[in-house]
Amino acid sequence: MSLLNVLKIGDPLAEKQLAMTAKPVTDFKINTLKIIVADMIETMRHYQGVGLAAPQIGVSQHIIVLEVANNTRYPEADNIPLDILINPEILEFSEQYEADWEGCLSIPERREQITRPSSICYKAFNLAQEQVIKTVSGFHARIIQHEVDHLNGILYTQHLDGIYLQQ
Ligand code: ZN
Repeated sequence: MSLLNVLKIGDPLAEKQLAMTAKPVTDFKINTLKIIVADMIETMRHYQGVGLAAPQIGVSQHIIVLEVANNTRYPEADNIPLDILINPEILEFSEQYEADWEGCLSIPERREQITRPSSICYKAFNLAQEQVIKTVSGFHARIIQHEVDHLNGILYTQHLDGIYLQQ
């Protein structure tokens, strides 16, 4: 496994890559998928992230990893077991919204209060190409919405106007 560089705003090339729309994973059998996921997990843990999307490491594909394990950047967040979401799709957003603090490994030294739907129902595939459908709420729902935004080239700071526009 190897620690990867996280693309950060401030660098024009990185900003261009972060703004790109990623593509779904079409081949689950290729070895590189497992390597990318393993490297993403290592990188997320190293930088104390609670989630990481493949475009943040320059891979323009629909891959997300997330985990909250006694996180020092979010000490108040409940733990969430490691999860790998391939080709995630948010099926439903709750009508209820909530605001909470958000940060991003691609936007260092910044936190903002972002209003988002408080729960979502999503589907995704795991590494074994099994489909999972889940409803999650609170910080868990927030992380997935934040990371799915990355797959669509959207940074959380674009939601700063207060109203979260559903796609
Ligand atoms: Zn982010």
